[in-house]
Amino acid sequence: MQPAGLRCWGCGRKVEHAENPFCGQCIKAPPAYDRVITALDYAVESAYLLHGFKFHQQFASGRVLAELLEIALCKAYQDRAWPEILLPVPLHYKRLYSRGFNQALAMARNLNVPCSIDYKALKRVRYTPRQVGLSGMRRKRNLRGAFTVNAALTGKHVALIDDVITSGSTLQAICVELKKAGVQRVDVWCAIRTQFN
Ligand SMILES: [Zn+2]
Repeated sequence: MQPAGLRCWGCGRKVEHAENPFCGQCIKAPPAYDRVITALDYAVESAYLLHGFKFHQQFASGRVLAELLEIALCKAYQDRAWPEILLPVPLHYKRLYSRGFNQALAMARNLNVPCSIDYKALKRVRYTPRQVGLSGMRRKRNLRGAFTVNAALTGKHVALIDDVITSGSTLQAICVELKKAGVQRVDVWCAIRTQFN
């Protein structure tokens, strides 16, 4: 489980003080999303579950990750409203074809939460090379125009779900589109977080 301690609402990094839910970096450059909720830090054990789930179709590992995320979510929403709609981060059809399933959608379906899943609202319209190894600037450029919003979401409170959050640039790019489409609030749910770069 996530080590005890306070987590930044913007990026999920550890923060020292309870007065402000955001770290210094997120205060300086606030992310487009309103809050990030994660269950585990990237480590040997969580990486084992993630890789088994994502690349070897070990769906039991996916269910474990979803269950741990669900515990973190129930804690985070115990005194505030749950999002109305859950949006899995979409894969481009080429990657969907090679992987065989969308891990974000599989994770959403494994959660027992009071939100409806809309897996058609977001579309990945441009195939983007893997983000790994790209600088922050390149990542942003790489993702420009990669996603569209195909649903009426004006005024809605939504949650964006993915298996892992690394730089946050994919989620950031989608959030920008969602806010342009009139979404009022975007929470980000990820089973695992790595150190942002
Ligand atoms: Zn932060």
